[in-house]
Amino acid sequence: MLYLGCHLSNSAGFEAMGKTALKVGANTFQFFLRNPRGGAAKDINPDDVAAFLKLAKDNNFGKILAHAPYTLNPCSKDANTRDFARQVFADDLKRMEYIPHNLYNFHPGSHVGQGVTVAVPQIIEILDDVMPEAKNTTVLLETMSGKGSEVGSTFEELAEIISRTKNNAPNQLGVCLDTCHVFSAGYDIINRLDEVLEHFDRVIGLERLHAIHLNDSMTEFNSHKDRHEKIGLGSLGKDGIIRFINHPALKNIPINLETPNELDGYAAEIDLLRGNYKEC
Ligand code: FE
Ligand code: FE
Ligand code: ZN
Repeated sequence: MLYLGCHLSNSAGFEAMGKTALKVGANTFQFFLRNPRGGAAKDINPDDVAAFLKLAKDNNFGKILAHAPYTLNPCSKDANTRDFARQVFADDLKRMEYIPHNLYNFHPGSHVGQGVTVAVPQIIEILDDVMPEAKNTTVLLETMSGKGSEVGSTFEELAEIISRTKNNAPNQLGVCLDTCHVFSAGYDIINRLDEVLEHFDRVIGLERLHAIHLNDSMTEFNSHKDRHEKIGLGSLGKDGIIRFINHPALKNIPINLETPNELDGYAAEIDLLRGNYKEC
C-alpha cells in the first residue's frame, strides 16, 4: 500500500487537514501541533478528533506524522533552551495521545560547538524524561543533512541515541528518513540504494524506519546543505525518486512530501508518484 501525503497547515484542525489531504490525493499527512517556531499549541477539540478519526478510517489513511517545532533543540548549549525543548516535547506527546497510534518526528538538534559527545547524552536525557508520555505514539528521530553542527546526519549517531534511551522498543522509538537530508549527508540513495538500506538495517534496523520525508534536493550529493527541491527538479531526479518509493524494503512506510509547493503542486507530485508506483 502506498501511504503518500504532504505537509499541511494545521490552522483549522484535524478534520480540515484530513479533507485537504483527500483533495490532493493523499492518504496520510504531516502537520505541526503548534506554531513551527514553538509558540502556543493549538487547542485539541475532541469532536474534531473524532471526525478526523472517522474520515481517516473510511479512507484507509496510513499513520499521520506530527513534526516538532524547529526551535526544539534538545542539545543546545543553553540549559534554558534544553528545558524549553523538554517541556514542548512532553506537552506535544501528551497531545498525541488524543490521536493514538501515530508518529511524532523531531530533529535531534544542533550542538552549537559543544561537540557530539556532549550533545548525545543531552538528547538521551530529554528522551528519557519525555518518552513515558508517549504511551501510544512512536517517536522518530529525523535523519539530518549535517548542516552547521546538526546531530543525526549519520546512521551511527542515530543508533547510539536510540540504543542508549530507556524506552526504545522499535514501536516506541525509531527514525524518519528524509531523502534530501540523507543524500546531502553522503548516503547515495540514487545510485546505491540497496547498500544504503543494508547499512541502515545493520546499524539502526529497518524495523525502526517508520516514516519517510520525500524531497528532491537543490544541492549536490554530500553537500551537507538542507535545501528541499520539487520532485524531479533537483540532484536526486525523478527516476531515482521513483525507484526509491518502489523499493521492496520501503513498502507500507508512510511518505510525506516537504517540497516547496502550494497544494496544487503537492497534488501534481502525488499524482505523478502514484502513477509510477507498482503495487506488489
Ligand atoms: Fe524535519
Ligand atoms: Fe524532513
Ligand atoms: Zn530539510
